[in-house]
Amino acid sequence: MTEAATKTIDLAIIGGGPAGLTAGLYGSRGMVSTVVFERQQTGGQIATTEWVENYPAFPEGISGSKLSGLMTAQTEMYGASIELFVTVTSLTRLDCGSFELQTDAGDTWHARAVIVAAGAVPSKLGIPGEEEYTGRGVSWCATCDAGFFKERTVVAIGGGDSALEEALFLTKFASKVYLVHRRDEFRATPIAVERVKQNEKIELVLSAIPLEIVGDGDKVTGLVVQNVKDDSCQTLEVDGVFEFVGVNPVNELLAELVDTSATRGHIPVDKECKVAGIPGLFAAGDLTDSSLKQVISAAGSGATAAFAALKYLDDLPDLCD
Ligand code: NAP
Repeated sequence: MTEAATKTIDLAIIGGGPAGLTAGLYGSRGMVSTVVFERQQTGGQIATTEWVENYPAFPEGISGSKLSGLMTAQTEMYGASIELFVTVTSLTRLDCGSFELQTDAGDTWHARAVIVAAGAVPSKLGIPGEEEYTGRGVSWCATCDAGFFKERTVVAIGGGDSALEEALFLTKFASKVYLVHRRDEFRATPIAVERVKQNEKIELVLSAIPLEIVGDGDKVTGLVVQNVKDDSCQTLEVDGVFEFVGVNPVNELLAELVDTSATRGHIPVDKECKVAGIPGLFAAGDLTDSSLKQVISAAGSGATAAFAALKYLDDLPDLCD
């Protein structure tokens, strides 16, 4: 049996969300061989976002899946190749300065520069019943699962933009949506808060922490919540539980290379998206310690990282293959 040959490229981009796709667009337009590795579908978190209203050039808004498709097409148009459903399982810097990437497809790639734009994944509450009823009433994606709850009662949990926007989306299907948040104040943008307050199908359950997801052994029947002010508990009778309690950066590949203890797992980068102390390594998008986590800022940092990577590649002598 012969071993698969190592493939050598200029720029490897890990993650095919808005940051990675934009980096791919800039890389390929910079005339360097560019490969984007994406373990799922392209688009990252927007692929499962129903509607995006704050990405410029779409005054009426645009569906997340359509925006993902447009970004993907534009990235591929200029020659970047997208390795879809391929997970990069390890990333190491070789003595000669190149990076070696291993994938779950069994391939080895060498890249002269790497942009990690692996994004973030939804957090879980970790309460009893969550694991048992995942896929049987517990979900992290309203766009994917709202259709199962036509004329049913569901609960959305969280007080950020995701929770409020997805609660509003759920009202298109469900007859009633509880919105459970652990404080009285929301961290979501005021326009989303206003829309939620105006929506007659949404009932706010504030200062309440979710304690347990209950069911009949087959599917979800309720969510037990506790009021943090008087410790009283109640069970909300619901058919579906949608959790939107934040996101965790996907940082495993850089765990050995970068200290993220001071940035809650996010990768610290400078204004050119460089990772300190590792020439040729860049990070972009929600994985980084940037303050704004939006599609526009992810795309912007993907462009910044690729621009810096192109400059780095320009100045670089040939490395190992
Ligand atoms: P987020 O802004 O971090 O909000 C998470 C929410 O979950 C917070 O309200 C938090 O409560 C609550 N929470 C966290 N842990 C909890 C727990 N254990 N139990 C109960 N509640 C808990 O997360 P996100 O809404 O997913 O948004 C992530 C980023 O993407 C944000 O920067 C957001 O602005 C951005 N985003 C933007 C858009 C848009 O522009 N259209 C859409 C979606 C997301 P506390 O408030 O008490 O901490």
